[in-house]
Amino acid sequence: MQNKFNIGDLVRPEIKQMTAYHVPEATGMIKLDAMENPFSWSDEMKGQWLEVMCAAEPNRYPDPSAKALVQELRQCFSVDDELGVVLGNGSDELIQLIIMAMKNDACVMAPMPSFVMYQHIAKSMGVGFVGVPLNSDFSLDVSAMLASIKERDPAVIFLAYPNNPTANLFDDADVLAILEASNGLVVIDEAYQPFADKSYLGQVKHFDRILVMRTVSKLGLAGLRLGFLVGPNAIVEQLEKIRLPYNINSLTQLTASFAFKHMDVLNQQAAIICEQREELLAALAQLECVEVFPSKANFILFALLDDSAERVFEALKDEGLLIKKMGSVLGLPKNCLRVTVGTADENRLFCKHLKVILS
Ligand code: PMP
Repeated sequence: MQNKFNIGDLVRPEIKQMTAYHVPEATGMIKLDAMENPFSWSDEMKGQWLEVMCAAEPNRYPDPSAKALVQELRQCFSVDDELGVVLGNGSDELIQLIIMAMKNDACVMAPMPSFVMYQHIAKSMGVGFVGVPLNSDFSLDVSAMLASIKERDPAVIFLAYPNNPTANLFDDADVLAILEASNGLVVIDEAYQPFADKSYLGQVKHFDRILVMRTVSKLGLAGLRLGFLVGPNAIVEQLEKIRLPYNINSLTQLTASFAFKHMDVLNQQAAIICEQREELLAALAQLECVEVFPSKANFILFALLDDSAERVFEALKDEGLLIKKMGSVLGLPKNCLRVTVGTADENRLFCKHLKVILS
């Protein structure tokens, strides 16, 4: 007789301890929780896109190296010819690829709080993770990071620039100090670059260990699942060995190539989002019982001074507004919420309800 089957006997202990990444149900809600671009395309642009889609061949596998798309992307983002590019099914997949390529005893480091996937993916791969708390103004605690680098010698350091969920850019001198101290890779995750006007892309060729990671998700193409990283060829060659051959599907390849020919539209939308961010920052700053933090991204972090984030989150949800409750995250003040910048109407509605809920 066979023993009773128990999947728990086969799965690694660290995976048994994990919980799945939770995405809340958002049907019918005004979505201000996931840093999406709220704007769609004009009917004319949609018509042109549909013509492009007619050329798709869903019966065929996609181009495994997405040659046409990589060419467009190199032009669009002015990627240096001497650097390599890796495409991912979202930048989430690129984070996974980078960590997957490292030795079993490697350790991954990131400031805390930062994007949760760095730790989640490291855990899932059985790789150690060190989170170094940010200073209370959310700048990098350089001396703590340098001490930690010395002690743990991380194979990879992730720096989200701007950082999620704190929305700030780190100081150049601090980033440089970390780069100089690190024996491993330093990944500058520029997911929110379209709203920040600052980038390390131009620096990649001057170092042997920087990777700059971007995504099209925040730019207005979250549904495509497309991220890319730019880095020295020696690193890119290793990552390419473990990238699954057809990770970028043909509909994404065609749609992204089309969208990159219309960057003016996406850039214009990003500019509107930046304007809206400034208005939303000003409106939140007027609320006495709220501490609002500066933002160079398309979202704003704020703390409630004498209310519960849970109560306010639920009350906003009852009004059909979905934002992000930060919970107790190491390094964040208590009762923090994160709101994505939406359209002018969405932002107004959010402020109106928030004011009432807090009164
Ligand atoms: N990096 C950062 C800092 C993020 O906040 C996110 C998503 N919220 C990502 C990467 C992942 O982006 P995607 O997988 O959609 O490309």
